[in-house]
Amino acid sequence: MNLSDAHCHLQDVRFGGDLDEVLKKCRHAGIRRWMVNATREADWARVAALGVSEPGVRCSFGLHPWWQEERCPHWQESLRDILIRHPEAAIGEVGLDRWIPGHDLEDQRAVLAFHLQLSRELDRPVSLHCLRAWPELAACLKQHRPSRRGFLLHSCAAPSAMLPAFAEAGAYFSFSPAFLHPRKAKVREAFRQVPLDRLLIESDAPDMAPPAGLELEAVPGKEGLALNHPVNLMLSLRALAEDRGVEAAVLAERLEENAERLFGWKS
Ligand SMILES: [Zn+2]
Repeated sequence: MNLSDAHCHLQDVRFGGDLDEVLKKCRHAGIRRWMVNATREADWARVAALGVSEPGVRCSFGLHPWWQEERCPHWQESLRDILIRHPEAAIGEVGLDRWIPGHDLEDQRAVLAFHLQLSRELDRPVSLHCLRAWPELAACLKQHRPSRRGFLLHSCAAPSAMLPAFAEAGAYFSFSPAFLHPRKAKVREAFRQVPLDRLLIESDAPDMAPPAGLELEAVPGKEGLALNHPVNLMLSLRALAEDRGVEAAVLAERLEENAERLFGWKS
């Protein structure tokens, strides 16, 4: 089986020095590509370096709403510049978040608008984060259209009634292992209506861990806290295959086609 992780953060320092071991486990399970999303200017170089050193790592550059306050005054030139230097790279992670305490939605909107403008200008797909701001995100996408190549609503927990309009606007939707929590049953249910040609799977590792006891592997974190291991992507695949009543291997082929279409991967 060949699988791609549509959204993760392998550059995260919380993986410590274990990344070789982590990727070995993933490759053994059949995962061969990772869309590694930067979250702030400080990790762009690390993401770019992984794209060179690790076969299968693809890069995405952007400013996550949790880290936007620490950006430099010239971040826009820097972002355009790194994207031009990496013609295969996507844009993100970026988005809107009304869940995080002290959020500044106006500032998030301005940062997102610039990322969407770059998406059009450079014709790149975008990886979007959204927590408790779905109507605001829909409005932003209407006002600042991304590239026609499409965009990813990563770990998408949008209300099911909004999914058709997002799909119409060019969305792909990715399912993370955290959606196996019983409290996320509604999200899992909503994924049943995602068109098959817009479906993707992600780990979001080292975040968004599956429920304790279900994980295939965990990465040891601080204070005994277990972090999400990217091999848990397999749980996302199994859950979607079960919900759609298809063989995991058959679904995997469709998901690969979707990832290649959205991200412009040749192989
Ligand atoms: Zn993420």
